[in-house]
Order: sequence, then C-alpha cells, then structure tokens
Amino acid sequence: MVRVTATGAYLSWRTPEMTSPRPDSPGAVWDPSQVSDELLTLTHSLGDTRRDLVILAEGNTSALLPDGRVVVKASGSNMASATREDFVVVDVPPLIDLITSQEATQQDLTEALVAGEHEGRLRRASIETLVHVAVQHFAPAAYVGHTHPTTVVGLLASVHAETAFEKFVYSDEAVVIGRPLFVPYAQPGIDLGRVFFHQLRRYFEQHGELPSLILLGNHGIVAVAPSPQGVEGISAMSVKGAAVRIAAYSAGGAAPLSDESITKFFARDDIAERRHNLASGS
Ligand SMILES: [Zn+2]
Repeated sequence: MVRVTATGAYLSWRTPEMTSPRPDSPGAVWDPSQVSDELLTLTHSLGDTRRDLVILAEGNTSALLPDGRVVVKASGSNMASATREDFVVVDVPPLIDLITSQEATQQDLTEALVAGEHEGRLRRASIETLVHVAVQHFAPAAYVGHTHPTTVVGLLASVHAETAFEKFVYSDEAVVIGRPLFVPYAQPGIDLGRVFFHQLRRYFEQHGELPSLILLGNHGIVAVAPSPQGVEGISAMSVKGAAVRIAAYSAGGAAPLSDESITKFFARDDIAERRHNLASGS
C-alpha cells in the first residue's frame, strides 16, 4: 500500500528489494525474454484493426514484472504485429522522479526511455510510458492497455467529453468498468504524464483504489486490470458505453441511472462477485 508523507509524496507499496534498481541497471533496458505470451497476445488482440481500437503505431500495452519493473511497448511499433523485440523494460521510480520534477523537460523524458541500439535499431519505450508507470506508482496492476478507440475518442473530442461518463447509462458497464476517471487533454509525453499522475492521485486519495478505466480527453482510454481478459473487457465495454451515449444523445439526450440505483446495485453480492470474476479474467 502507499502512504502519504508530510510533504505529500507517496511512498511506494513495494518492498525495499523491489524498489531498489538492480546494480548497473539503467532506467530502460531491451530484454525480449521479459515479454510474456500473455502480454503479446493481449497486444495483438487490442491491435486487431477490425476492432477499431488503434491503427498504425497507435496505442501501447504493459505488464508488471515480479521485480516491480514494467515491460512496455516500444515507440513506433505496431500493436497488431508486435514481437517480443518491440518492447522495452523500464524502472518505475526514475520515471516518477521525472514526472514530479519541476525542471524535467520532454528531452529528459525522451532520453530516459532509450534502451540502447540493438540489432541495428534504437529501442525506446513509448512516449506514453509515463501513463503506465504512474498507474504502478499508486497500486500494482498486472496489465495496462492504452488505445484510441474511434467511438470513445469521438465522444472525448466532443462537447460532452467531461461529463459523458460521469454517470452510468446502463448496469453492465457499471459492473465491468466501475467508476472511470476523466483526464483533460495534455500533449503526449511529459505533459500528459504530469496531468495523468495528478488526476490519478486525486482519484486514489478519494476512492482508495485505482480506476479500471481512465478517459483521456481528445485522446483515448487506459484500461487497468489484474488480467489480460480484464483489460479486454474494460476496453470493449468502454467502446459500447460510448456508442450507447452517442445513440442516447442523438435521441434527445442521455437519461443516466440514478445514484441510488447504482449504490443498491453495487451492494448486491452477486454483482460484487461478477466484478471480481471479470477483473481476474475468470
Ligand atoms: Zn495514445
């Protein structure tokens, strides 16, 4: 768990041996042996262009390693055809230091993500890596998937962006997604990392847990789950939720479920069990 120090800084949930960088280990390394079958399968699945979650080199996935480091997709690679060589392993603490430093620049971030040149190619973690490590700073999450689904981005680029997902519009999305977090637009890179980090901290302080779904204004979504199936489910449900809202707006406006109804719904044992099973992929 994390706790807040007198200065407002967070202490990591990790044990000392997990947070200590390994000797001689730079912040980012290229080590394809750390890429699991599960991460690769999830990346290919989210990257399938028929699902319209990403095109070209959009989006990225990551998985938490037992030693606290994160395997994240490399910059410029395509999710649909990614191989183990298209990932980079990063340490969380140095990148959190970058996010929280007043002086750090985009150039500092770009350099921190470089894992050297291997087999004739410069390997660099995605410029959106800060989104993945910010999640891990607050609470461990086995898998994170970031995509740009057309339907959701459409809504997040509309006049309804900030309020669209404030209330649930049907019960199944409440079960699968829980309460999402909206993060206003910031340029991908250190700016987005900082805004995302601060919004995530506010959410964590308020709810004591991370959101399963984070909506990035004019940008995309971040799905956080303990299993690849959880990331799949949250991503798919966010697309459906966006489509339902767009349909409701076009039919005169959305009529959300009441807070009272949602509170009762979440109090049901069968719903709590379903949420648990969905998150763990069982
Ligand atoms: Zn993105």
